[in-house]
Amino acid sequence: MSKIKSIRGMNDVIPQNIGFWQITENSIRSVFSSYGYEEIRFPLVEQTELFSRSVGESTDIVSKEMYTFEDKSGDGISLRPEGTAGCVRACLENDLLRVDSPRLWYMGPMFRYERPQKGRTRQFHQASAEVFGIEDHNADAELIMLALSLWQDLGIENQVNLEINSLGSVETRKKYRNLLQDYFDPFLKDLDKDSQRKIKVNPLRILDSKSEKIKSMLLEAPKILDYLDEDSKGHFHNLMEVLSQAGIPFEVNHRMVRGLDYYNKTVFEWKTQDLGAQDTVCGGGRYDGLVELLGGKRCPAVGFSIGIERLILLLEGLSKEETASSSNLDCIFICLTPESVSYALLNAEKIRHKIPSINLKVNLDAKSANSQFKRADKSGAKMALIVGEDELKDNMISFKDLRRNSSQEILNLDQIISKLNKLF
Ligand code: ATP
Ligand code: MG
Repeated sequence: MSKIKSIRGMNDVIPQNIGFWQITENSIRSVFSSYGYEEIRFPLVEQTELFSRSVGESTDIVSKEMYTFEDKSGDGISLRPEGTAGCVRACLENDLLRVDSPRLWYMGPMFRYERPQKGRTRQFHQASAEVFGIEDHNADAELIMLALSLWQDLGIENQVNLEINSLGSVETRKKYRNLLQDYFDPFLKDLDKDSQRKIKVNPLRILDSKSEKIKSMLLEAPKILDYLDEDSKGHFHNLMEVLSQAGIPFEVNHRMVRGLDYYNKTVFEWKTQDLGAQDTVCGGGRYDGLVELLGGKRCPAVGFSIGIERLILLLEGLSKEETASSSNLDCIFICLTPESVSYALLNAEKIRHKIPSINLKVNLDAKSANSQFKRADKSGAKMALIVGEDELKDNMISFKDLRRNSSQEILNLDQIISKLNKLF
């Protein structure tokens, strides 16, 4: 029979590669919680309307990239393309915003139907933080500091740089949108259909275009920062002040708009020069209107999302092989005869109960001693416990320190336990 393949752009992570994932996920968990953020989990599938209403009908995400289905009862549902919408929905449904100003984090798969390439897959993973109920710039600053702490924890702080911008209020954006459309009017006839459509429905997206032609047209375009309302101007100024006081270098990029409609005021991205075209590792910003848009009371909010695949590409580029190893095996049972396998299994259970912290594995297929020792070596185990015909007969276990290459000792179970207890 023919083999069934995975879906394009949806990748497996096999045990040899899991090390970087575990390092990254552990670091995310510990750094996020050290800032007092609490984990929230919500479904991978939501009503399609949640995303079209929040991310925006005219965005690439909603108009082209969503996995949308009808379920058996004919309801329109979508795999989540991002997390903020679902997070806000969950907060409202569970009444988390009424009395508290929660700081939340989550991590998990997202789905977008995009052209797969390095750093871009159709199932990818994000780790995100969201802060609700805080209007002022200090929340934006805290999130940026949190991201930086994560880069430091992972040792990639020299691989990423921070860019910030402000999109102002909804009114600022409306005004600026019209200005940009007017500015592009004389150029329209020279542009391709897709760019013409973009300028018509979502002109801000033209600002971060990668096309050289459009970049050159943009040279004289009006800058959104020149049209900010007073409140947004103050907010942006204060944020820059705090970042400077904290010694966090940043660059103002007045062309950064982000691909989701719900942002206002601050937007920011952490970028890298080490990954080619997919250069944004983390993107975020303020979304003061979203809670209301999804049926709640007005509640300012700000958050960011990290692309975990891109983070891991960075780590892989930097590290030596040994960092990637996921193995923390202390001890492995080597069984020299088929009869000794269950003897090993039973003794392993006794050892685990006496030493709960031990990582102990039993080789369940009694292959040649040679190949088992090779496997033990590859597994990273520090000690081998060997059982064969003689050990089984005498109710003993042979002990070998794999790191020191010392000779074997034949011990009974109690002696083994006290020896391992000393070692771990
Ligand atoms: P890009 O411009 O690279 O498409 P985006 O603006 O669409 O990014 P966001 O929606 O802001 O991305 O998502 C936040 C982060 O999630 C991105 O900075 C990136 O690291 C990651 N990300 C987004 N889409 C993908 C994808 N298809 N594959 C892998 N990572 C992704
Ligand atoms: Mg995108």
